[in-house]
Amino acid sequence: MVANLINGEQVAREVRESIKKEVALLKKEQSITPGLAIIVIRSPFARVHVARLKERTCHQLGIKCQIFYLPETTTDEEIIHLIERLNRSKDVHGINIHPLTPHLDHTLISQVVDYRKDVEGLHFLNMGNFLMGEHHMVNFVARGIMKLIESTGEDLEDKKAVIVGRSQLVGKPVSFLLIKKNATVSICHSQTPNLEVFTKKADLLVVAAGHPHTIRKNMVKEGAIVIDVGVNQVGTRLIGDVDHEEVEKVAKWVTPVPGGVGPVTIAMLLDNLVRAAKSQ
Ligand code: NAP
Repeated sequence: MVANLINGEQVAREVRESIKKEVALLKKEQSITPGLAIIVIRSPFARVHVARLKERTCHQLGIKCQIFYLPETTTDEEIIHLIERLNRSKDVHGINIHPLTPHLDHTLISQVVDYRKDVEGLHFLNMGNFLMGEHHMVNFVARGIMKLIESTGEDLEDKKAVIVGRSQLVGKPVSFLLIKKNATVSICHSQTPNLEVFTKKADLLVVAAGHPHTIRKNMVKEGAIVIDVGVNQVGTRLIGDVDHEEVEKVAKWVTPVPGGVGPVTIAMLLDNLVRAAKSQ
């Protein structure tokens, strides 16, 4: 078997086209121009190129975007002060915080964001509503993953789904969206013994471990859908968590890295921004 590649660029393009129309309508009918603020702490984790890509995409779609670069020595108080200012700004409808340096308290900081501007879907209120089944502002990465799965046309009803990774950002929210689609979900993590026993049974395998080659061919069921969320810098290359050369020989569908999950998550972040702008 040779896997079909799930074309994240194509899926993202379709989402962007719809966003562009919604933004034009918002401007015409309500004189609202959605505005995104991105906070980037300069560090090896910063992913500055992704912030610039988001900024460029915003401009193409008619969205205002401002990137706030802060030095690596920024304290919790300084970043909170900036967020409070952005919370008050009428021009900013959504706040996106890039990965923080380990000395900063991510949980504390993400809760300072006004829940109406929480386009990442990580505020306690949005997370709580999400768990209760109200889907006003859902985590953008999980929404992106669901969009990619949807694009395969495969039905999740009666399927066994296995998620590798239990983070707030990926593993936990995507598990809830999959349950809603009637998949039967297992979540694995670094303490799961014999990972392959679980992954090998998965009709759908979502991998967000953050380590290259966590998933190899012998760990994947023939005909599975494999969503590789991982982004790992190895030398000058970006690679996922899945050994693509091997896994593409057994899976039915695979997301490439790059060009899979990444573009769709950016599109879903901006889709959340438009939702936020409409509700403010
Ligand atoms: P994270 O917070 O570090 O979580 C990683 C999770 O994987 C943890 O739950 C960890 O288990 C588990 N894990 C680590 N090694 C494992 C192993 N060998 N076997 C089984 N489980 C293992 O990372 P994250 O924020 O979820 O991100 C995961 C990856 O996705 C990263 O590469 C990140 O860059 C990428 N990502 C990409 C996008 C995108 O748009 N493309 C968006 C978000 C994230 P424990 O809980 O036991 O530690």
